[in-house]
Amino acid sequence: MRCKKNKNILVLSPHFDDAAIGIGGKIRQHSENGDNIFAIFMVNWSHDIFEAKKAVKYSNRILGIKKEFFLEFHSDYLLHRISDAVEKVRKIFLDNNMEIVYTPHRRDGHPDHIATNKIAFESSWKLHIKDKVIFDSIREYEIWTPMETYTTLYDITKYIKEKKEAINVFSKFANTDLLIDGITGLNRYRAMHHETLQNKGDFYEAIREISLTQIIHDPTVLG
Ligand SMILES: [Zn+2]
Repeated sequence: MRCKKNKNILVLSPHFDDAAIGIGGKIRQHSENGDNIFAIFMVNWSHDIFEAKKAVKYSNRILGIKKEFFLEFHSDYLLHRISDAVEKVRKIFLDNNMEIVYTPHRRDGHPDHIATNKIAFESSWKLHIKDKVIFDSIREYEIWTPMETYTTLYDITKYIKEKKEAINVFSKFANTDLLIDGITGLNRYRAMHHETLQNKGDFYEAIREISLTQIIHDPTVLG
């Protein structure tokens, strides 16, 4: 029997809660498949940074993220620090032989999320052109702003319990009581798009996958 190779997965999370909110179900699935998952948190997000980092680590262990890196840029200024951040991401990517990168999608409404998308594409471009690295793809995920178009819907029904637990860790930092309902609402909304399928799940996460080949040969995928 051919053994499936475990993948090295890098999740770029602008704020401390974005990985769990946006792609927590799929991360948990990667973990159960034996993939190695690393996460980079771009900006400092709370006044109580010590407590917030503890929460991130706790949430990450629920999802199966093995290791996290905190870049500690100032929130709302990340767009002005792109090249700094690109170099840091590039180094972590190289040190850990990453193959798939998750990033917020390019049409997200938050400036830190848009900046993270730019950092994902710029660092990947450099990694391929300058460092000659071959990787699989970049996968854009949804946080608060739904994507207009996506390539894949992941059935995360099996992992929704862990996803909720991982998000719940951040409830005390959130300025809404509807955090879990809001996020699982988006995951239910995506299930609606699978309505016609048999054996459909109750919760889905949408991603837009862009392969390395597309990044190299079709610059329109970047814009
Ligand atoms: Zn965020």
